[in-house]
Amino acid sequence: MYTLIIRHGKVIDGGGNPWFRADVGVVGDTIRAVGRLASESADVTIDAEGMALSPGFIDIHTHSDGPLLVQGEGHSHIRQGVTTNVIGNCGGSLAPVTAKSREYAAGRLGEFEGVELDWSTLGEYLDRLERQGVSVNVVPLVGQGTIRGSVMGFADRPPADSELDEMRNLVAAAMQDGAYGLSSGLIYVPGSYAGIDEVAELAAVAASYGGSYNSHIRGENDTLLDAVAEAIEIGRRAGAPVQIAHFKAMGRHMWGRSVDSLRLVDESRAAGVDVTCDQYPYNASATGLGAYMPAWLHVGGPDAMVERLKDPAARAKLRKEILDGLPGWVSLHKGVGWDNTMVTNCPNHELEGLTVSQIATQRGADDFDTAFDLLLEYKGRVPVVYFTIGDEDIERIMRHPAVMVGSDSSAIAAEGPLARGKPHPRSFGTFVRVLGHYVREKKTITLEEAVRKMTSFPAERMRLYDRGLIRPGMKADLVVFDPETVSDNATYTDPFQYPSGIAHVFVNGKHTIKDSQHLGTKAGAVLRWQA
Ligand SMILES: [Zn+2]
Repeated sequence: MYTLIIRHGKVIDGGGNPWFRADVGVVGDTIRAVGRLASESADVTIDAEGMALSPGFIDIHTHSDGPLLVQGEGHSHIRQGVTTNVIGNCGGSLAPVTAKSREYAAGRLGEFEGVELDWSTLGEYLDRLERQGVSVNVVPLVGQGTIRGSVMGFADRPPADSELDEMRNLVAAAMQDGAYGLSSGLIYVPGSYAGIDEVAELAAVAASYGGSYNSHIRGENDTLLDAVAEAIEIGRRAGAPVQIAHFKAMGRHMWGRSVDSLRLVDESRAAGVDVTCDQYPYNASATGLGAYMPAWLHVGGPDAMVERLKDPAARAKLRKEILDGLPGWVSLHKGVGWDNTMVTNCPNHELEGLTVSQIATQRGADDFDTAFDLLLEYKGRVPVVYFTIGDEDIERIMRHPAVMVGSDSSAIAAEGPLARGKPHPRSFGTFVRVLGHYVREKKTITLEEAVRKMTSFPAERMRLYDRGLIRPGMKADLVVFDPETVSDNATYTDPFQYPSGIAHVFVNGKHTIKDSQHLGTKAGAVLRWQA
């Protein structure tokens, strides 16, 4: 009578409870039995002796909106056991699109060759995703930056009353189309042009439909504490649960400050504001070398930038501003330095994996001049990672009970149109790195607690009440993995590496990863919030 039975596994049920031995029986897309099923048979039987069996992992922070339209298989995520992607994060969803934003939205899609912009509403975008098919479940957020751009373009000013009304209406329409909440990314234009009042107004609309407010806060280095406080205040005013994304303290001068930022979270919770966070388990962020430079260098595009970089006077000015900062601009170099800035992708492959300082030494040149020369030589396209997050902060944040796992990555693949450049290894490694490096090797948290942070906790946060636990009646998103060998293999210079130790993954009861290989199954559900 069962379509699937997984026998003899150590069940880690997602609730944080110690593992227990049980068979799990599935009928169709739903778990029907947990217990002793020795005399029962099924269409598919898996012997999970010696293995862990947990709910599928839920990635609360992804940017898979575009990638899943290109390749619905979601290889880099599903092969880690991630069965659900929350999309539309950091203020940037691919819908809605209005007459005002269509050109810009089409431009953004340009990096995804062959994906034609044929939708306007979030509902239409979700329909398209559903028609194409996906291997992971999808949970949409609507982005505040997208909404603002759709109404005000790139205008750096407060909205007129009529514009605010229009934005409210767009949020309401997206919530009716199935958005689970509002995201914002308050360091990215045009969303960053919004003040706290405007964001709180829009979050209140999402909250009126039972939605959450998911925030990439207004700063993660010098302005960290103010930015955390702002996100919490928006949630308090809006009456929305708050999810703070990729929680960290950036820059060496900020190391240790997670004590204070986590205290803000605790105090807010004690005061009745429902705030939780997510985290990726890496000590580096990814960007381009251009992000180290003040805005004036970029005016007019790459060619203009290259010309300026030839001028010694401009270099002197840059050097000073990079060291001292500018009013309203925190220099990325601060607390990072050239010896912690590593080139990941370069037409000259010999430079890959070297820091700017190492390249300077090779060339017998000064660090700053080397950075300027690299930008000049490669016309501003110099992808780097920068080691900016302290290991103690990573572990302190990970141990906090209100912090879950989220990758801040896209579901991509090691081959095909999405295998480009050197993406941050978190795309291929976040969840398995927590299970391997932090649980097994460093013993930062227990296996059961790690699984809770990947399953029932994000499920509860996004109100996915039929996922994230192994219980009869829950959707059959399941992972069979080996706790002794599970590990990440993706690195900063070699990021397109699938993990070890993930044996089987089922999405809505359908076998998707079998013996670590993707079967091509597209059983993911495009989920729509219903208030
Ligand atoms: Zn973000």
